[in-house]
Amino acid sequence: MTLVVKVGGAAGNAVAPTLDDLARRSDYVLVHGGSDEVDRLGTALGRPSEFYTSPSGVVSRKSDPAHLEVVVLALAGKVQTALVAALAARGVRAVGLSGVDGGLLRARRKEGAREVVDGRVLRVPEDWSGTIESVDATVLRALLSAGLVPVVGPPAVTARGEVVNVDADRAAAAVAVALGASDLVLLTNVPGLLREPADPSTIVREVDRASLDEVLPLAAGRMRKKVLAAQEALRGGVRRVVIASSQGPSPVARALDGGGTVFR
Ligand code: ADP
Repeated sequence: MTLVVKVGGAAGNAVAPTLDDLARRSDYVLVHGGSDEVDRLGTALGRPSEFYTSPSGVVSRKSDPAHLEVVVLALAGKVQTALVAALAARGVRAVGLSGVDGGLLRARRKEGAREVVDGRVLRVPEDWSGTIESVDATVLRALLSAGLVPVVGPPAVTARGEVVNVDADRAAAAVAVALGASDLVLLTNVPGLLREPADPSTIVREVDRASLDEVLPLAAGRMRKKVLAAQEALRGGVRRVVIASSQGPSPVARALDGGGTVFR
């Protein structure tokens, strides 16, 4: 049964323990974001990241053409190459793919994204972000059956061949659904979904269908995308989704043992 693991890219994530852990496994897809690297590279290039909050409270990165360029350089260039190289150092033959490769992540450009500015709802100008509509898993299946590990990240591609930024957590969920994965593990810089974001002891251990709507309001900022991703994965037939910490030894095994917030 294929496993999909997404590694976090924000500050405070530990990647090495995840790769050590994955190197002992087979039949998995690694999905990555890399927000920290996008921010770092953007600043170095004089294009610092900007974010907006939608009327429903979801925080997204601004993806005008100048920022999208940074996203592509940082994610499909630097972060992905570094992950493939780090797996190679562990004896794993991995292949990096953006969502554009092989038409892997098909997205629709978000029409009329809206942001709240000083209490007013405005259109987000020149936005090149997208919503994933489908996954063509052909290339993933071909790689997996050849014993290779796919390493997948944003951007995605539209039906017209436009490159659009997509959220990596949602991309991981879409990949897990398309592959019929049994489990999706979202590793991040906090132990899971927290009732009090600053207090790790307030972790929500289990979420089922009935309690999903109840926990969604807890997830502010970027955690909200993970809870939405968990919801999408479960709806698509994934048996279990775990949001867990990337820190400490064997984070994947620990998450699969229920260490984190388990959605079923
Ligand atoms: P990553 O790059 O690891 O995927 P993100 O920065 O996208 O991580 O999302 C994790 C962040 O979500 C946490 O560091 C935390 O600041 C924020 N967050 C907001 N609300 C919550 C919550 N209820 N529980 C846990 N984290 C939360």
